[in-house]
Amino acid sequence: MTTSLLQPEQCEPIAAIATPVGVGALAVIRTSGQGVFEIAQRIFRKKSNPSFQFAQSKGYRVHYGTVYDRDGLIDEVIVMVFRSPNSFTMEDMVEFTCHGGPVVVKHLLKVLLDEGCRLAEPGEFTRRAFLNGRLDLLQAEAIGEMIHARTESAFRTAVTQMQGTLSLRLDALREQLLRSCALLELELDFSEEDVEFQSRTELQQQLGTLQEKLRRLIDSYRHGRILKEGVATVIAGKPNAGKSTLLNLLLGEERSIVSHIPGTTRDYIEECFIHEKTMFRLTDTAGLREGSEEIEHEGIRRSYKKISEADLILYLLDISLDDYLDDVAVIREFQERYSNARIIVVANKTDLAPESAERVTQLNEATGNQVCAISAAKGEGLEVLKQHMSSMVEGLDKLHEASVLVTSLRHYEALRNASDSLDNACELIASDSGTELVAFELRSSLDYVGEITGKVVNEEILNVIFEQFCIGK
Ligand code: GDP
Repeated sequence: MTTSLLQPEQCEPIAAIATPVGVGALAVIRTSGQGVFEIAQRIFRKKSNPSFQFAQSKGYRVHYGTVYDRDGLIDEVIVMVFRSPNSFTMEDMVEFTCHGGPVVVKHLLKVLLDEGCRLAEPGEFTRRAFLNGRLDLLQAEAIGEMIHARTESAFRTAVTQMQGTLSLRLDALREQLLRSCALLELELDFSEEDVEFQSRTELQQQLGTLQEKLRRLIDSYRHGRILKEGVATVIAGKPNAGKSTLLNLLLGEERSIVSHIPGTTRDYIEECFIHEKTMFRLTDTAGLREGSEEIEHEGIRRSYKKISEADLILYLLDISLDDYLDDVAVIREFQERYSNARIIVVANKTDLAPESAERVTQLNEATGNQVCAISAAKGEGLEVLKQHMSSMVEGLDKLHEASVLVTSLRHYEALRNASDSLDNACELIASDSGTELVAFELRSSLDYVGEITGKVVNEEILNVIFEQFCIGK
């Protein structure tokens, strides 16, 4: 039996348009909560049975009829009636499928609001589904991720999460932690008798196994993040190398201001593009040089931060300049400093350098990196560069059937915290510290894992999660 965590006022009837705004063949308006059957009864007539009663509807049913406001007929509709608990929110729900013109839809919504519904907040239907125990927090978040997925693999990961694969893994982990914690707390209850319900060596072994499982999940985040958000790609290089021009070319639109005055890309911008099923999240950075102005300095600081977080760095240089080899030292430094990232050296402005072929060969040797030669202004060499980008990250964005992936920063951070608490617990055991302290760390670890699936409910976390949903979801 699932207990509802909803406060009574949260059961009030809500309504929202669930389909995108604009002209379409059909649109859906959802309602949920106490009293939606009465509200629907006042505005709907079933064609084949004018004395049809929503209150007598069982399970879930579909009916065809017409809706009215106080002045008369509005539209022909299909209503889907879901009797609690057989609905998405587990409350009584009525969904109206009407014609998709914006005026019709808004009018029907207004009638529902006039009849007693309140306009739903973003994610409120899913929030209620979670609070009523229909799905856990991970599954609720997966719905949002599925809707916003931009690649097939991101979509598949979200579907796996929605089915509860990660939830099961975390529940098992939590169960084991809970057992160890319970034994320690029992010892505390019998503290005067100085008993040990579990030997400390055994406990340490168990915690070690749990730690390994946690670490495997934590490590999966890099892969999971790439699947969901795309390969974090940074275009770096000196001012005027052509970074903005290349960014626009890759994105196919005018996104950042291109200028011949060095230092005009003061901040960074981020956009995505998909090449052969791989999504790249591109960041254009401020030119890497000592900033002469305060604001430029800040841009450069942020650029370095972005570079340090990148999966792929496109290091762009102007091959037409006589000092083109000056960048080799920086590239070498990048290779050392950002060893987690893959680096592609891109020699730009080949159109201005008749001797670019020899220069590229020289760069190849000097950097030990296969250099891509392009003319961003003319769009030459772009396909080869994209191919090279895809091959550099091959495998990073592929979903491995059997693996459970962590794709959300929230989950990743909670897992890191849980793992840190376990580390603390192990250190305390090793230094023969009091049972109370060890139990405290285990309890913290347990709470962090619980926060992920929503076993431990935190209002602030719920607000952040559901605010990101659209209205009607
Ligand atoms: P950023 O400072 O690295 O972002 O460089 P921009 O993209 O603003 O480019 C600086 C200047 O170089 C602009 O005037 C561009 O039009 C020009 N430019 C960029 N790529 C090429 C290229 O391949 N060939 C030529 N001839 N000019 C280019």
